[in-house]
Amino acid sequence: MNYEKVSVPEDGEPIALADEETGELDVPTNPIIPIIHGDGIGTDVGPAAQQVLDAAAEATGRSIAWMRVYAGESARKMYDENLPDDTVSAIREHRVAIKGPLTTPVGAGFRSLNVALRQTLDMYANVRPTYHLDGVPSPVTTPEAMDMITFRENTEDVYAGVEWEAGTEGAEQVRTFLEDDMAIADVIHDGPVGIGIKPISEFGSKRLIREAIDYALANDRDTVTLVHKGNIMKFTEGAFRDWGYELVDEEYGDDVITEAELWDDHDGDQPEGTLVVNDRIADNMLQQLLTRTDEYEVIATMNLNGDYMSDAAGAQIGGLGIAPGANFGHGRCLAEPVHGSAPKYAGEDKVNPTAMILSGREMLDYLGWSDAADLVRDAVETTISSGRVTYDLHRQIDGGEKLATSEFADAVVENIESLA
Ligand code: NAD
Repeated sequence: MNYEKVSVPEDGEPIALADEETGELDVPTNPIIPIIHGDGIGTDVGPAAQQVLDAAAEATGRSIAWMRVYAGESARKMYDENLPDDTVSAIREHRVAIKGPLTTPVGAGFRSLNVALRQTLDMYANVRPTYHLDGVPSPVTTPEAMDMITFRENTEDVYAGVEWEAGTEGAEQVRTFLEDDMAIADVIHDGPVGIGIKPISEFGSKRLIREAIDYALANDRDTVTLVHKGNIMKFTEGAFRDWGYELVDEEYGDDVITEAELWDDHDGDQPEGTLVVNDRIADNMLQQLLTRTDEYEVIATMNLNGDYMSDAAGAQIGGLGIAPGANFGHGRCLAEPVHGSAPKYAGEDKVNPTAMILSGREMLDYLGWSDAADLVRDAVETTISSGRVTYDLHRQIDGGEKLATSEFADAVVENIESLA
């Protein structure tokens, strides 16, 4: 494929899809991987992550042929557009990619590029692991109790972008439809009103919950928790829960049981080798993450709940500088940190690149390079636990050495080389 708005590497081979049905990949030892450094601090954490991932690949007998692709500010400067088609095509074609944060101005009229990218590629599962690394300061007393992974639905909910601005003809048409045709009176106040729609489908819910259950089965986890606010939003969030239990019934045998079956058939005693699917109301869940942290392992939830919950969980294991993520769907992976572009620190070589580096770890895992992925995790942990940290962690610990973004990346690379 010819790209005009992408830097194509001279070496490297493309990743192919080995099995359409399972999404299994055929990964060469020198794959071409598209990378978007991103806006704001993306210019700091992007190159840092690239350097660490190169070192981990090299230490395990492989190499990565990086393909620089552009979105956000860099794309605007170079091509006068936010998200060039070539960027989307490169990620679609090469299947596995990594991106830094992209800026979305609040209420400024253009849709989030992150949401646009995830929706265009139909990457329906946003996966956010939250685990504690030794030496990372935390506001809670037992951060090591958290070892959880959140599967957040990525294409629906109030994030789907179906909304109308107050005062527009669209908003007034929807108001008239609701009041006149649907006989919903006295709910919307008089005067300007912004209106948004919250679609939650059976298809979207089941494919996301299936990913979470399959992950839990493959990784010997004991529970999957469906998080929803179905007591209030019965036909959207309540339906998500019901479709989850329906899926368990329809597609999984005796190895996956519901919490009701656990009590009815097994007196609450989970049989060896089974997976229990339970559910919790979202507000209660945010409390339980703090009070009963170790009871939760795999979470499946909708877009908005998942965004809030994984940020809160991220705070327990060290904050936005640490929390990694990745988007999956149709045999593709787009890794990206949870944090945004933090514009006030942009270009200062100051912020923590760990979240982007650990997002890269998720990507390496997806390639099937678990040895390289483990090496990245261990090297980051060794670096942080020796007190060599960026400013965000340094201000929370006694002593230690404050490193710049690039110095931290160098220290992790040194540890990769000594651990390999
Ligand atoms: P943010 O995550 O960019 O920053 C909030 C604060 O968190 C920062 O001021 C900083 O104190 C801290 N922080 C974030 N990343 C850090 C790091 N790597 N190391 C140390 N500290 C770090 O959130 P925001 O200020 O709400 O958003 C800024 C912009 O980023 C907005 O335009 C928003 O839309 C966008 N955003 C993008 C993504 C994405 O690309 N996936 C995600 C969230 C926000």
